[in-house]
Formats: sequence, C-alpha cells, structure tokens
Amino acid sequence: MSILIIGGGVAGLSCGCYLQMNGYQTEILEANTVPGGLCVAWDRGPYVFDGCLRWLVGTNPASSFHRIWGELGAIDGRAVQDHDEFLRVEGTDGQALSLTTDLDQLARDFKRIAPEDSALIDNLMRAARRCAPLDPPERPLELMSGREKMKLLVRYFPMLLTIGRWKNREFATYLAAYRNPFLRQALMAVVGDGRMSALVLVMVLGWRSRKNAGYVAGGSRAFANAMADRYARLGGVLRYNTRVASVTLQNGRATGVRCADGSALPATTVVSCADGRTTLFKMLEGRYLTKQLRYAYDHYNVFPSLFQASLGVNRTFPDAPWELSLALSRPLVVDDTTQHDHIEVAVFGCDSGLCPAGKSILIVRFTGSFDYWAKLKQDRPEAYTQAKQKLLQEVIGIVDQRFPGLARHLEQTDLATPATFERYTSNWQGSIQGWLPTPRILGRRFPRALPGLKDFFMAGHWVEPGGGLPTAALSGKYVAQMICARDKKVFTSSSIP
Ligand SMILES: Cc1cc2nc3c(=O)[nH]c(=O)nc-3n(C[C@H](O)[C@H](O)[C@H](O)COP(=O)(O)OP(=O)(O)OC[C@H]3O[C@@H](n4cnc5c(N)ncnc54)[C@H](O)[C@@H]3O)c2cc1C
Repeated sequence: MSILIIGGGVAGLSCGCYLQMNGYQTEILEANTVPGGLCVAWDRGPYVFDGCLRWLVGTNPASSFHRIWGELGAIDGRAVQDHDEFLRVEGTDGQALSLTTDLDQLARDFKRIAPEDSALIDNLMRAARRCAPLDPPERPLELMSGREKMKLLVRYFPMLLTIGRWKNREFATYLAAYRNPFLRQALMAVVGDGRMSALVLVMVLGWRSRKNAGYVAGGSRAFANAMADRYARLGGVLRYNTRVASVTLQNGRATGVRCADGSALPATTVVSCADGRTTLFKMLEGRYLTKQLRYAYDHYNVFPSLFQASLGVNRTFPDAPWELSLALSRPLVVDDTTQHDHIEVAVFGCDSGLCPAGKSILIVRFTGSFDYWAKLKQDRPEAYTQAKQKLLQEVIGIVDQRFPGLARHLEQTDLATPATFERYTSNWQGSIQGWLPTPRILGRRFPRALPGLKDFFMAGHWVEPGGGLPTAALSGKYVAQMICARDKKVFTSSSIP
C-alpha cells in the first residue's frame, strides 16, 4: 500500500518527491490531465498562454527556496530573467514611473515625484533592506526542538521588530499616509489589494532587491513538467483523470480514498493537497473541523479571483516594459460589482520560451466577482460566452491604444474568467492563491494534521496563508517531514545528481 496524495499541483508534487526521497511509495491522484494545478499553461497555435508563473521567489542561489527548487528539479537548466525594472506604472496624464530592484535608485525615483513623502519612502526602504534576507524555517515549527526554535529566533532577531510593525498594518491604511496620488497608485500596483498586510509591500521590495524573484524561461508548464518528471524518476506514480470524492475513515484513521468513479483505493496515509474547503467540508464531511477552522472558512478573506486575457501577437514590442500597470481614461466595467481604473499588462517575448521569434504574448489580468461569473456560466451559458467576448474586445481596445498596431497583428486570443480557474482546479471562489494575507491572517498557522484524525495531512496554499509557488512547495516538504517524524525516520533530501 502506498501513501496517497490528492492533487498534483505544486504542493502535491513537492510532497510526493520528498516522500519518495525518504523511501515511501506514493501515488498522486490528480483530477486533471496535466500536472501543476494552478501552475498551468495552454496552447493556442504557436503561442503558449501562461496562466501563472510571472515571478518566482527562490531564484537567488543563496535563498533557501532555491535549494527546494534544486531538490525538486523545478528550474534546473533554464534561464532566469531578473529585470532591473520590474514594474512600470503609467498614469492617464502621461506620467510614468519605473520601479527598479535597486532600492537606492527606487528611493530616488520615488522622491523625485513625491518629495513630500520622503520620510515614508526612507522608512519603507529601510524595512525592505532589513527583511530582504528573510527565508522560511527549514522545518515546520511543530517539529522543532526548543534549541532549534532559539536558533531561529536569533536568526530572525534583526528583523523581528520590523516584521511586527508592518505585519499588523493594513496596506490601505498605510497607503493613505502618502500625500502623492501617483506614488499611491504605484505602490498599490505592487501590492494589488488594500486589504493585505503592509508587510507584503516590504517583502516584495526586499525579494526584488535581493534578485530573488525572477522569471524562469519556459514558464509554468516547464516548471510543473520538470517537477512531475523528478517525481516519476524518484519512482512516484501520477494518476491523471482521477477525482477524489471522499477520504475513507476507520477508527479515527484515514485508510484510503473513494474516487468520483466509485473506485476505492486503500492507503497507509492520505495527504490532501487539493482545495482546503473541498477537503474539509466534502471529502471529510466536516467531521474534523475545529472551531478555529470553521471560523476561518466563515470569515477570512481569500485572494480574489482573476480574469486573464491572453493575446498572441504577430509582432514584437521591443520598448515594452516587462510588466505594466496601466491607468485607464475610463473605467473597465467587469461585472455588477467590479470596475477598474487600471489594469496589469505583462509582455512576453520569444526569450520567455512561450512564443517563436518575431511574435509576442500580452497577458492582461484584473479581478472580478466570482459569484457573478460562476452564476452566469451556470444559469445562462450563452450570455456568459457573449459577456466574455464583449469584455475581451474591450480589453483589446484598451491595450491597442497603449501598443498601437496590436489589434491588427492579433493572431490568437483567450479569456479565462474566475469561473475558469475554479472549474479547472476546484479552488474555492476561484481564489488564485488561497487565503489573502491580511494583518489578521498573515503568520497564522493552519493545521497540517487534524485533531482526532490519524494518518491524514494537508498541504498547499490553503494551509500556508499568502500562498504562491514557493509556499506550496515548502508546505509539501513540511508534510513529508512530519510523516518521517511520525515514523521515527530521519528526513533526508537531495538535489538531482
Ligand atoms: C493567474 C495566477 C498567477 C499566479 N502567479 C504566481 C506567480 O507569479 N508566482 C507565484 O509564486 N505564485 C503565483 N500564483 C499562485 C500559485 O499558482 C498557487 O499559489 C500555487 O500554484 C498553489 O499550489 P497548490 O498545489 O497549493 O494548489 P493547486 O495549484 O490548486 O493544486 C491543487 C491540485 O489539486 C487538484 N484537485 C483538486 N480537487 C481534487 C480532487 N477532488 N481530486 C483530485 N485532484 C484534485 C487540482 O486539479 C490541482 O491540480 C498565481 C496563480 C494564478 C492563478
């Protein structure tokens, strides 16, 4: 009998790889036909439209995440692109601001447009410099001895005060202290959501300055395939088209799973790396919910769901920034509760590995109401298709104004909605990254093992608030370490020989 892992996203693949490294036989059950979960891309003619990877924490070889990527074989042999200008923000009045990874330069550029905010800018850069070296613990806290915890405290000591100060501030409140509206717009473009903790801004600037958040050529598909390949080479079995309906239980232990097709698979241990709500409320029928978990699922915010317009263009845009936050002269109305006064545009050339030479891909992302679009899709599929078409045309019109000639050279288009992300990965409310890191949630620990249920674990972005690819991978590793500890095995890991 093997350990069964539900979900072949990054967390599931990571957990599978580390368990295989430690002598366990595992099998991953994945509902889809490809690995990666949200870390996915799809083909349209000669273009690969990437639905995820834009920046990957752990591209700096000195970072502990880099070691994880090495162990999982996720980025080996592929070029990492670290753009000095990681974001350009453009206003409606022709004003533009380059956000660079050099914090001294960034401070100068911020002060040039907003001298009145100099004190806040200096304070922000100090915090980003201090927190830049922050790396997560190598083992989950619940496995650490008192001595290890002390060592960790010493390691984190220089940044503890800064983290504490910034973590508990809501980003929108922090932003309101800036007097310059254009700088406010630029900082909002970095964080994306005013409800998040202000620490997110500090960490993003810190990672960027450390050259620890680059783009890896080949994008999501190459990344997920490389991990799936590593898993197969370690002897793991990945079973696609297999949706798990429930976890089978006996005397307070997980003993296997029942699949949607009715088949039952026995297991020594079950790890769910699938959507947290589906796992707790459906697969386990709500039996092992603690008061805290129920409260979290009733009250906490999740990352908003996204639209992604993907445009394949038969020309290049050599002067285009890597990533652009574009202010709109009139709002983009998305649904009955959402409209935007700016959108994010990412430009991929052939060096991204996603399109041939002479062509480009533009990816436009903005949030929308999951409830509205999921209901429309379910109740009125034709109206849903028409609404998508209309929205896509509007987006093309906006982008064509900024990149003249784009519409004429457009060869392939696609619009993914919040309903698409949910349908494809089952993530609750189409969340792209699990829990939103608000001051209340950031740093909170969700249980990886449930009280009263033995031989069952959870990993992935629903147990590590903040989410993202590195966190999902780390979470899978933590659970592998917990299983080794349960079995009194010394955990080992290795990079590809
Ligand atoms: C548009 C977008 C852009 C992003 N950009 C970045 C980025 O640039 N950098 C970054 O670090 N992060 C990014 N993220 C976030 C990142 O993709 C996620 O946080 C991460 O991939 C989560 O991994 P996971 O394994 O925890 O979950 P998932 O990827 O959701 O994997 C769960 C898997 O479980 C499977 N599953 C679900 N239910 C079942 C079932 N019942 N039976 C069997 N299988 C099941 C799903 O099919 C899926 O494969 C982005 C996300 C999106 C959507």
